[in-house]
Amino acid sequence: MDRQPASELLKAFLISGQLEKEDKYKIFERLLEIFTIIAVVIGLLIIQLPFAQDLNKPAIYKLAAIVGVFVVFWYHVLPKRFSGRMKRFVYSLITLTFIAFLVHYTNGVRGYTIFFYYLSLLPVSMTLPLRYTFVTTFYSTILVFTEAFLTKGSLQTNLSLALLNSWGFVLVVFYSRFNSGEAVLVKKAEEDNILEKEKTVGKLKDEFVYIISHELKQPAISIKGYIDNIFSKFSSTINLEDKEILDLTNTNSVRLTKLLDDLLDISQIEKGSLRIVMTDVSLRPIINEVLSTLLLEAKEKRISLSQKMTEEVGANADVDRLKEVLTNLINNAIKYTPEGGRVIVEAKREGDSAKILVSDNGIGISEEDQKHLFEKFYRIENERTRAVKGSGLGLFITKQLVEKMGGQVGVVSKAEEGTTFYITLPRYR
Ligand code: ADP
Repeated sequence: MDRQPASELLKAFLISGQLEKEDKYKIFERLLEIFTIIAVVIGLLIIQLPFAQDLNKPAIYKLAAIVGVFVVFWYHVLPKRFSGRMKRFVYSLITLTFIAFLVHYTNGVRGYTIFFYYLSLLPVSMTLPLRYTFVTTFYSTILVFTEAFLTKGSLQTNLSLALLNSWGFVLVVFYSRFNSGEAVLVKKAEEDNILEKEKTVGKLKDEFVYIISHELKQPAISIKGYIDNIFSKFSSTINLEDKEILDLTNTNSVRLTKLLDDLLDISQIEKGSLRIVMTDVSLRPIINEVLSTLLLEAKEKRISLSQKMTEEVGANADVDRLKEVLTNLINNAIKYTPEGGRVIVEAKREGDSAKILVSDNGIGISEEDQKHLFEKFYRIENERTRAVKGSGLGLFITKQLVEKMGGQVGVVSKAEEGTTFYITLPRYR
C-alpha cells in the first residue's frame, strides 16, 4: 500500500463497493440462506461442548429460533422487489442486532462471540457504499459499548474491551475497503487500457484502408483510361470476341474504382475526416446530370429512367456528395429492377426540407431486410440478388453522407412490387 499515492488510496476507499452490479448478489441470496441455517445449527452443536465460560443456553435456543424465522421471512416472504444495496444494508443491521444478543448471552464483551461483529462488517465494507459502511460500523460500536455496561465484572475492563473492539472494527473496515477498492481500480485501469488499445488498432485499420485505397485508385483510373482509349481507337477494327473481353475488363475496372471510392469514403467517415462543403443548390440540374450518367446502364436493361419535378426545389448540400448519394440510389434502383422496368426520380418541397425520392418497380425489399439495409456490408442474399454484384457499402455510405449534410434517409418497399428510397435535405428555396 505504501507505493500508492494518498489520493489513490482515498479514491480506493471511496470507490469500494460502488461499482458492483446489483444483480450479481442475487445469486448469492440462496447460498446465504442455506449458510445461515447451517451456521445456526453448527453454533447450537458447538455450545454443547464444555466451555469454561457461562452460556445462557435457553436464551441462545430462543435466539436461534428467532433467527430461523427471520431467515424464512427474509428469503421467502419479503417482496422480491425489495432488493439491492438497501436490502443488504438492512440485512446487516438486523444481523448485527442478533449478534448483539448472542454476545450478550455468551459472556458479553469478554466472550469469544464478539468476532461475529467482524465477520458481518467485512462484506459490508467491501461491497456497500461508504455511508452504509459508516452507519454499520457506528452501530456495531454502539452495541459493543452498550454491552460493556451489561457484561458482568469490572466496568473499566469492559469499557477497555469495548474500545479495543471498536478500534478493531475501524481497522477491519478501513483495510478491507482499501483492498477491495484497489482491486476495483486495478480492474478498471485494465479495462481502460484494453479499450485504448482497441481504439488504436481501429485507427490503424482505418489508416491502412485509407492508404491502400488511395494508392490503388490511381492505377485503377489509369487502367480505365487505357481501356477507353483502346475502345475509341480500335472500335471499328476490333473483333467481337476481343470486344467482349474489353467490355468485361471495362465493367470490372469501373467496379474496382467504385469499390476503392467507397472504401475511401468509409475510412474518412470512420476517421471523422470526411469534408463536407455545404452550398445552396438547385436540385433539377444535379438530378439531370446524375440521370444522364446512368442512362446507358438503364438502356442496357431496357429500364425507363425519368424524373418528375413539378416545382423548383433548392437544397443546402455538398454538391459532390449529393451526386454520389443519388448515383448510389438510382444505380441500385436500376440494378435491382428486372429488365423492362421503370425508375422515377422525384424532387419536391416538404416543410423546411427538400425531398428526393427514387422509386422503382423492382424486386422490392422484405420488412426484415429493411431494418438492416443501412448497415455496413449488409447485402440481401436471395436468388434474385445473387446475380447482382455489390459490396453492401453503398447504402451505409449514403446514410452517413446524408446525415452529415443534415438530412435523413428512408425506405418504403414491398417485396416483388418495388421500392422507394428517399432522402431529405435542408431546403433553401
Ligand atoms: P450493394 O453494393 O450490395 O448494392 P447497397 O448498400 O447499395 O449494397 O445495398 C444493400 C442491399 O440493399 C443490396 O444488396 C440489395 O439487396 C438491397 N437494395 C438496395 N437498393 C435496392 C432496391 N432499389 N431494390 C431492391 N433492393 C435493394
